[in-house]
Amino acid sequence: NKDKVDIRQLDTLAEISYPLCMRQMHQRLRTVHHLKHFARLQYGLFLKGIGVSLEDSLLFWRSEFCKQMDVEKFEKSHSYNIRHSYGREGKRSNYAPQSCMKIISTSVSAGQYHGCPFKTLDSPALLKALQGSGFSMIAQHEIADLAKKGHYQLACSAHFSHSHKGADQVLIGHPNHYFDESQKILM
Ligand code: SF4
Repeated sequence: NKDKVDIRQLDTLAEISYPLCMRQMHQRLRTVHHLKHFARLQYGLFLKGIGVSLEDSLLFWRSEFCKQMDVEKFEKSHSYNIRHSYGREGKRSNYAPQSCMKIISTSVSAGQYHGCPFKTLDSPALLKALQGSGFSMIAQHEIADLAKKGHYQLACSAHFSHSHKGADQVLIGHPNHYFDESQKILM
């Protein structure tokens, strides 16, 4: 069992320990206070995987969504799905956080923020997303080139290396693996 993650730390964790897919959805949620279905699912299961409790998850989503919808609508439209992903509704299956393979193979339309950004973003958009990461231009281009060649997980692994200077190389196959390896190094 994981240690409980404090939802007040999510902004910091998103900066230091999230893979780019989750960071993008987190930032989008903080900016527009909404995410579409597949992003809610992808990010919600990731949060469960890093150790956010069901109660905190409900609090977190409610506090964001209720900046642009009333609480009643949130309870009616979203609470059930969040409890469902924690196995507390319906068939009570305890859904696992999605792997990179699953995320990479999901289709993503314009205006959607789920999926793997190394696949969904073209080079200029990816370079823009990498700005502010503190990476050198060479590092940013190395990552964008891997992504352009279709090596999405290698691009993500390079992203990990440049975010954790001096750490051993980690081959990323799961966003929660990225997070756990990062926390091992940083904590
Ligand atoms: Fe997320 Fe995996 Fe893509 Fe990295 S390779 S951004 S962890 S889906």
